[in-house]
Amino acid sequence: MGRRRKSGGASPAEGEEESSQTKMETEEEEVIGSSDDKTSADYYFDSYSHFGKFTFTFTFTLTNSFHFCYNFYQVSIFFLSFFLSGIHEEMLKDVVRTKTYQNVIYQNSFLFKDKVVLDVGAGTGILSLFCAKSGAKHVYAIECSQMADMAKEIVRVNGLSNVITVLKGKVEEIELPIANVDVIISEWMGYFLLFENMLNTVLYARDKWLVNDGAVLPDKAALYLTAIEDAEYKDDKIEFWDNVYGFNMSCIKKQAMMEPLVDTVDPNQIVTNSQLLKTMDISKMSPGDASFTASFKLIAERTDYIHALVAYFDVSFTKCHKLMGFSTGPKSKSTHWKQTVLYLEDVISICEGEAIIGSMTVEPNKRNPRDVDIMLKYSFNGQHCQMSRTQHYKMR
Ligand code: SAH
Repeated sequence: MGRRRKSGGASPAEGEEESSQTKMETEEEEVIGSSDDKTSADYYFDSYSHFGKFTFTFTFTLTNSFHFCYNFYQVSIFFLSFFLSGIHEEMLKDVVRTKTYQNVIYQNSFLFKDKVVLDVGAGTGILSLFCAKSGAKHVYAIECSQMADMAKEIVRVNGLSNVITVLKGKVEEIELPIANVDVIISEWMGYFLLFENMLNTVLYARDKWLVNDGAVLPDKAALYLTAIEDAEYKDDKIEFWDNVYGFNMSCIKKQAMMEPLVDTVDPNQIVTNSQLLKTMDISKMSPGDASFTASFKLIAERTDYIHALVAYFDVSFTKCHKLMGFSTGPKSKSTHWKQTVLYLEDVISICEGEAIIGSMTVEPNKRNPRDVDIMLKYSFNGQHCQMSRTQHYKMR
């Protein structure tokens, strides 16, 4: 049963249906710079190895954090800027992500022409540059990390200082020199969509500055759930702790089970249908809507074993001439978000047509709202086995 997880899901063009409800326009070019089989952790380990000693804990935190204000006071600016550029390099080289934004902005200049745009979490300023090229009257680019200094320089050398103003600071603390903006653009999505909780920052900006009929881009996001066979990898990540060089370390297993794994899932591992868990309308929702409980029913499309549930998301830009967006699902071209794998305590032996039913509760961690707590309840009443269980996961 063991199928190896491979790097990069098959693109829909290879014959698979897109998992999102609506087929969307996405980028057209080939993915560059993603030919290797590395996880984010490998990527950063490789990067930092050029610069000497660093703690694993720190590296791990960084690899799991794409959207955050960098609060690592003890870390030298040297390391800070180094890691910042690594993170931004990975995001820019995610062509599904960046090219979709570029296509949205360039192919829908009616949304930007002569408009005042706010770029929430500007990073290198790439989205602001696209907006300026698409005819924006002015772009305010807010970025809280050191990358804001680079963004200022990037704007200057590209001759766009008259159109783009980079403001260094937190969106929640900054004063804009104007009262309103016409458009808010942001790439706020984290692993499992909500990890790092930058969505609240976008909603804050929307409520404070966006004109009544203004546009938030993207304006829709949806979270999905499916189930996979994953014997080999579960063995490697979870059962591994039973016998480590001849020693029983199974006490770590419980911890490992609680940590969702961000990884690329081979579409061949998928055993059930995909269930839409939650849709979010960024132009209307309130911050509290990012906490929810959603029920699911996953029906087996073949007889197999199930070891894990897998979550992924889509985002879309519905204000465009034609619907545009991208999916981070296993059947779509892979992105740096990969998918989020939640291992199950049980191995479910399922027959075609049988269903796992349950619910998933998602909410920001009370102590650190940038982390996500997930509660999964599931029950199964099949020919070969029956079970009912609640599992807790923490994205840290
Ligand atoms: N827009 C860029 C970067 C996206 S990553 C791109 O598409 O490539 C998100 C960025 O938002 C990060 O650079 C992070 O430092 C910044 N950010 C996160 N929270 C923020 C906040 N509250 N205020 C300002 N910037 C924030």
